[in-house]
Amino acid sequence: MIRVTIYNEFVHEKEYEEVKKVYPQGIHTCIANFLKEDSDIMVRTATFEEKEHGLSEEVLSDTDVLIFWSHARQDEFSDEVALRVKKHVLRGMGLVALHSAHYSKVMKTLLGTSMTLKWHHGETERLWCVNPTHPIAEGVPEVIELPMEEMYGEFFDIPKPDDVVFAGWFSGGNVFRSGCTFTRGYGKIFYFQPGHEEYPIYYDKNIQKIIKNAVRFVNPVVRKESDLECVGQ
Ligand code: ZN
Repeated sequence: MIRVTIYNEFVHEKEYEEVKKVYPQGIHTCIANFLKEDSDIMVRTATFEEKEHGLSEEVLSDTDVLIFWSHARQDEFSDEVALRVKKHVLRGMGLVALHSAHYSKVMKTLLGTSMTLKWHHGETERLWCVNPTHPIAEGVPEVIELPMEEMYGEFFDIPKPDDVVFAGWFSGGNVFRSGCTFTRGYGKIFYFQPGHEEYPIYYDKNIQKIIKNAVRFVNPVVRKESDLECVGQ
């Protein structure tokens, strides 16, 4: 079994009617529901308002893959919890960071760059697979059209990725490295751009397939504790 924890801030869905209409039970519940279709995946969820944001040492020790969506409370997110997540990634926990989580403390501390990008609302995106032999692209079409998405554009200040799996083209002309993999310590990271909260992106079957593939890709290989002595201290 792959033990997945889905962290979603769960703030926009409670504050804005238009977001609540799209995700009445929150983005985390939508993602949990499609992951639960797969019998080899176990899911739990965590939100900002929970104690330690639902990401206690106990929870992270029992997590193979952390999915992370955040936006409105990135500054208020606990430094201690961000460092705890980093420690677990360095020791092998997989991380799938979605959409605006690029700018989370967790991603900034793991990747070490400013993580800034260009953005504005309301464009059509064509998400092109630029790495069709990559495991995250398995069973995914060459191009996925998202009728409405927030534009994220280059320059995206990330360290050089291990692989770029998807590239986004937006109707205003911008392009973006929309699906990138990184390795930190023993942990694998996948950053995936689609998923602005006002649009029903996580109901798209192809987007769901990519997230499921990513969970399996970043799922850690089993290691001996002695291998991990040098990391995550
Ligand atoms: Zn957004």
